Amino acid sequence: MSEIVVVGGGFAGVWAAAAAARLLKETRQGVPGGAGETGGAAGPEHTVRLVTPEDDMVIRPRLYEADPHTMRVPLDRILGPAGVRRTAAAVTAIDTARRTLTAVDRTGEAREIAYDGLVLATGSRLVRPEIPGAEHLHDVDTLAGATALDAHLHALPDFQEDQPEDLLNGLPKDRPEGTPAAAPARWTAVVVGSGATGLEVATELVRRLRTIAAPHGAADRVRVVLVERAAAVGASLGAPAAPVIARALAGLGIETRAGVTVTAVEAGAVTLSDGSRLPARTAVWTAGVRASEPAGLVPGRHDEAGRLEVDAFLQVPGVPGVWAAGDAATAPTGHGHRTVFSCQYAIPLGKLAGRNAAATLLGVEPEPFAPGPYVICLDLGDAGGLYATGWERAVQLTGDEAKKYKRAVTEQWIYPPLDDGPELLRQADHRLRTRRSNPV
Ligand SMILES: Cc1cc2nc3c(=O)[nH]c(=O)nc-3n(C[C@H](O)[C@H](O)[C@H](O)COP(=O)(O)OP(=O)(O)OC[C@H]3O[C@@H](n4cnc5c(N)ncnc54)[C@H](O)[C@@H]3O)c2cc1C
Repeated sequence: MSEIVVVGGGFAGVWAAAAAARLLKETRQGVPGGAGETGGAAGPEHTVRLVTPEDDMVIRPRLYEADPHTMRVPLDRILGPAGVRRTAAAVTAIDTARRTLTAVDRTGEAREIAYDGLVLATGSRLVRPEIPGAEHLHDVDTLAGATALDAHLHALPDFQEDQPEDLLNGLPKDRPEGTPAAAPARWTAVVVGSGATGLEVATELVRRLRTIAAPHGAADRVRVVLVERAAAVGASLGAPAAPVIARALAGLGIETRAGVTVTAVEAGAVTLSDGSRLPARTAVWTAGVRASEPAGLVPGRHDEAGRLEVDAFLQVPGVPGVWAAGDAATAPTGHGHRTVFSCQYAIPLGKLAGRNAAATLLGVEPEPFAPGPYVICLDLGDAGGLYATGWERAVQLTGDEAKKYKRAVTEQWIYPPLDDGPELLRQADHRLRTRRSNPV
């Protein structure tokens, strides 16, 4: 028996496992391009196994929303009907010469798992800063982090009243329209980093905090401050997006502090690198992402973010039998660009890596990575959304139209089918171009 082992139960891992199962099934059934039932290479002796510590796939792109504990889907209901086996364990070592990995289960027991083809899809993690009081920083990077932030927000009404002198500290003289004249630490949140995640957190926090503050008559005292180390807020999203983002932030009364970062955090205050101290019960860190540790367990070239550099077939060069996908990998997308940390790449990377791993086992030709056009799709809270296409980020939709599109992506299209093996295998076809690549 030979086994394709996929490590990581996120977007890339789930679709890698499904795509590998799809090709194995196709070849068993004699689909053109496959080895055929009597072809010898394919047969029930080939299996696919997913190794990941949790029982659920986490819908990470929704973790900035309210009720983050609901943003998950049981892996067995996705992959079980397609015949994918699952081991609930974390991989701690990979021996690419012997083609084995070490996986530690929840009881702490380690076991060795042999693979014939390995797809590494262990995703990415937020890099937290080493500053005094960093333990007070919240994040929306993981289900645990987002759930802790949500619990913290709901506990805000129970905090002690702020001291009168806290009410006015740290407020800029020229605060944007809508910013409360007296913003207590209790209802003030500082969001660090104005990339896509920071913008989504900040804009959504306005609504989340107001909803919690409203029963206490404090909805108009909510204050959100967005801190950015670069010279301009939202700069990483490109010049065409800048005016849309600026309008959204101003419309929601979000204050921006560009050119500074956070140097210290306390339970009720955040200190910035310009020396100002903002009374704030809530601080959310969103800046800086790296590939998760297992990417470092595979030999090969890694980029500055720790991602494995894969070739056009998503194989790790010089490491036979190993493919990498999703945030654990970086692949060329054409025209001098490479994949970025995102679901929009994790899903097609996963599908192709799984398919090519199975193809190699079956003696079928591997195929090169050919992703759809790059897009950005941002939720800007009650200010709507932003949808832009291409690396030049040409703005296509804003406001309610963009928000509607974003909702369709995050609430429907990125969810894999449940309890439906045939539909999962249908969608696992790496050649499928879905409507999500171009709504306009
Ligand atoms: C708040 C937020 C908003 C986002 N918004 C968007 C967006 O709008 N659009 C977009 O395209 N992207 C967005 N992203 C990014 C997107 O979520 C990630 O790029 C995507 O989840 C990457 O998928 P992945 O499968 O590579 O990794 P992940 O989804 O991180 O999954 C990694 C998997 O590997 C497992 N794993 C980790 N270590 C081990 C180990 N040692 N052994 C076994 N398994 C392991 C994990 O448990 C997990 O199951 C957002 C992310 C966040 C946090």
